[in-house]
This record gives sequence, structure tokens and C-alpha cells, in this order.
Amino acid sequence: MNASTPECPICNHPLSVELARGRRSGKPFVMLRCAQDGRHFRAFINHRPYVEEVLRQLEEHEKHRQGGNR
Ligand SMILES: [Zn+2]
Repeated sequence: MNASTPECPICNHPLSVELARGRRSGKPFVMLRCAQDGRHFRAFINHRPYVEEVLRQLEEHEKHRQGGNR
């Protein structure tokens, strides 16, 4: 996603960034997970500005993929 994408400390693959939603709160948060094996590394980010930035980037990505005809 950007230059600061962290890597798995076990296998050094870049971590996948996924958006998840709290079951109780319904608030979105960011989940970092090793793309190779989820047992290696899993982490959650609840820092609002970062979560909102990821949300925005995902929405941009969606728009581009669908070619804007919605
Ligand atoms: Zn790994």
C-alpha cells in the first residue's frame, strides 16, 4: 500500500492490510496479518487517522476497479 508496509518478523513477507469491523462497536479497524501464514503475525490498529486513511484508500481502489459505472 505504501512504503511503510511492515513485514512479518517470521518469514519477512509483507503483511497484508485488511479492514475489519468490531463485532460489538461496529467500528472499523485495521488488521495486519502475515499473507503467508496467519499464525506468524496478527495485529490490530485502532488509531483513528490511520484507519480512516486506509478506508479512504480502499474506497479509491474500489472506484478504479469498477471503472466508475455504478
Ligand atoms: Zn510470516
